[in-house]
Amino acid sequence: MKTDIAIDGPAGAGKSTVAKRVARELSFIYVDTGAMYRAMALCLLRQGIGVQDTAGIERACETADITIVYRDGEQQVLLDGENVTGCLRTEEVGNMASVSSANKKVRSKLVALQQRLAREADVVMDGRDIGTKVLPDARVKIYLTASVHTRAVRRYEELREKGEGVFLEKIENDIQKRDEQDKNRENSPLRQAEDAILVDSSDMTVDQVVEKILSIYRERGKA
Ligand code: C5P
Repeated sequence: MKTDIAIDGPAGAGKSTVAKRVARELSFIYVDTGAMYRAMALCLLRQGIGVQDTAGIERACETADITIVYRDGEQQVLLDGENVTGCLRTEEVGNMASVSSANKKVRSKLVALQQRLAREADVVMDGRDIGTKVLPDARVKIYLTASVHTRAVRRYEELREKGEGVFLEKIENDIQKRDEQDKNRENSPLRQAEDAILVDSSDMTVDQVVEKILSIYRERGKA
């Protein structure tokens, strides 16, 4: 029986925090697919390739070498051999990733990498299309969401902690824009899989969300 857990949802819903904790509890590997799209976006930004330049994006996608390794249980993303994990969680990279991830070639390259990782280990994988496309046979599918305001406040605090000067209103606008892009794109739009369970974390603590997912997982295991 497949054991994987797929967690999808919009930006800032708390997917990575929760997925990491669930993976640790079950001794599974945590796979952050957003980081892969961000690495591809960083590659485009570094080469000065614009969002409208589809041919340039596809050329860069063919040559970019994106590799995932684990150090002390933490996912590291290598771009052409360089560990870029620490450069990925900026608003600039996130906004670029939201646009470049709509490209079909970018998606098929990264989906293949994600499916390969899931073949090699039990995984908790988070993203936008994990339950609908990457792991359609996952044992548990969660659609984790929260209000736009809650998500913006969470991201604001995360960026402030890193010392980035940010405005809450701008983040709220970015999140709304990113939701629209992710939900309305032609290739693998963000949507709740038919067999996914909706979890709204707006009024839940991280502990409560983790416990809920673990209990759903255990229940499914008995079925
Ligand atoms: O989750 P995170 O904010 O790191 O993802 C960055 C961007 O990558 C998202 O806005 C989304 O457009 C894209 N993404 C995707 N499919 C995934 C994961 C992320 O399209 N499975």
